[in-house]
Amino acid sequence: MSENGITMVDENGMRLDGRTAEEHRPIKIEAGVLKNADGSAYLEIGKNKVLAAVYGPRECHPRHMQNPTRAIIQCKYNMQAYSVGDRKRPGTDRRSTEISKIISEALENVVLTELYPRASIDVYIEILQANAGTRCAGLTAASVALADAGIPMRDIIPAIASGKADGHVLLDLNKEEDNFGEADVPMAIVPGTDEIVLLQMDGHMTREEFDRAIEMGVAACHEVSDIQKDALRRRYSAEGCE
Ligand code: ADP
Repeated sequence: MSENGITMVDENGMRLDGRTAEEHRPIKIEAGVLKNADGSAYLEIGKNKVLAAVYGPRECHPRHMQNPTRAIIQCKYNMQAYSVGDRKRPGTDRRSTEISKIISEALENVVLTELYPRASIDVYIEILQANAGTRCAGLTAASVALADAGIPMRDIIPAIASGKADGHVLLDLNKEEDNFGEADVPMAIVPGTDEIVLLQMDGHMTREEFDRAIEMGVAACHEVSDIQKDALRRRYSAEGCE
């Protein structure tokens, strides 16, 4: 039983939604879903539904934001009013500004921005339905959308959260586990090198639990990476048939 008196993991180690501690929710990714964007992707992980669209590289406006040596990545993460149970106040808030910033910074680690001085690569992430883990879902979808746009990258970034609920270290917390749990640790890696390009934590864990959460998250990121690559393969083989 958790600190809040709610049982989220039963005596057999099963979670309320039937998963084991190390299992992520079902993931579905489709690349190239929007005709008018340069690149796009739609992603579902459990009850999360996310759309990512990419424009660019194109001339950066306003011009004072241009970097003469490289492109900048401008990400806009937006949670739709209807994406959560109680209608969310539409528009930008502190949370969405922070998430947009950390996603842009993660992507700057892999996009070959030096190829496009003074340009901007614009990444729009729309959360259509939210059930915890949306920053990771958004970053995972954005990476596929960038690849779909043909933007040169060192690698394609997968992201997932691990955390702790009901005294157990768990992968990919759902909304109930996130709300009533003890800690949430979203992360993203460069799969080719295992470099960590996003890592946040709220709540509390022991050092051993934190190490276990990282180990679980990195292993799951590799699974997410395979699903991203499958989505891009399907996209290109479908293009070949057109
Ligand atoms: P993440 O979605 O990356 O896990 P948070 O930990 O901030 O980010 O949020 C967890 C979940 O809480 C979200 O996925 C969403 O379901 C819900 N949530 C976040 N912000 C709001 C909000 N303003 N109104 C209602 N629900 C929200």
